[in-house]
Amino acid sequence: MEPPRPAGRVFLVGAGPGDPGLLTLKGARCLQEAEVVLYDELVDRRLLDLVPPSCERLYVGKRGGHKSLPQEELNALLVAQGQQGRRVVRLKGGDPFVFGRGSEEVQACVAAGVTVEVVPGISSAIAAPSAAGIPVTHRGLSTGFAVITGHQISELQTLAQLQITLVVLMGVATLPELVSGLLAAGKSPSTPVAIIERASTPQQRATVGTLESILALATQAEVSNPAVIVIGDVVSVPTMLAAESAFSRAAR
Ligand code: SAH
Repeated sequence: MEPPRPAGRVFLVGAGPGDPGLLTLKGARCLQEAEVVLYDELVDRRLLDLVPPSCERLYVGKRGGHKSLPQEELNALLVAQGQQGRRVVRLKGGDPFVFGRGSEEVQACVAAGVTVEVVPGISSAIAAPSAAGIPVTHRGLSTGFAVITGHQISELQTLAQLQITLVVLMGVATLPELVSGLLAAGKSPSTPVAIIERASTPQQRATVGTLESILALATQAEVSNPAVIVIGDVVSVPTMLAAESAFSRAAR
């Protein structure tokens, strides 16, 4: 009688924001031991060099302007791979649980009795501002931060009242609504805003302005996805630090 096949194991691995160097050691280990890897658009292809030559690579992102695989089909594929007894890596941009529908993939595995483990990743929500020199918190400027999606803008009245940094993912298309909503909620037009595109890659670019000027600046710069929008006084920190270092040089 044949021995029973070992149960499959699915690892949801956070690939980090872009720079392959920002993958965790644990994530790298999962890739080195993978038998099949399912990856999407925002994942740097160089990470696939870590998988063994025999590992099957399945691209599940957008193809030539077409939509990515519907989530239900992706869940089914993930479960099927796990049920075949393979070591599966689902490689996702940033952290798997920040707007990546990763929790739905975990849910599908759990429902099917497939063992699943989440390997956290560095989210662009923190890494994009950080790579542009912007801290999401800074003593005296911001006591915390909220990460929201530009797909469903809500609670701006509440958010505008708080002295916290606002970090918006997937917000390029709805930037006009976001800006007008925050201004209508009483946020000062001089509030600093930065848009960081392709953070941690050689194509990284930051467009910096205020709530009043950012729309024109973003249009002029033809800002595009992937980009993170940061709103709050912390956006001024790089300028502040540059001024301080110039000051200390002048004082010498
Ligand atoms: N799970 C991911 C987010 C997935 S939603 C994470 O934790 O980072 C996709 C959105 O993430 C993009 O629309 C963009 O807003 C943001 N994003 C991801 N990678 C980015 C990068 N390198 N630079 C700027 N924004 C990025």
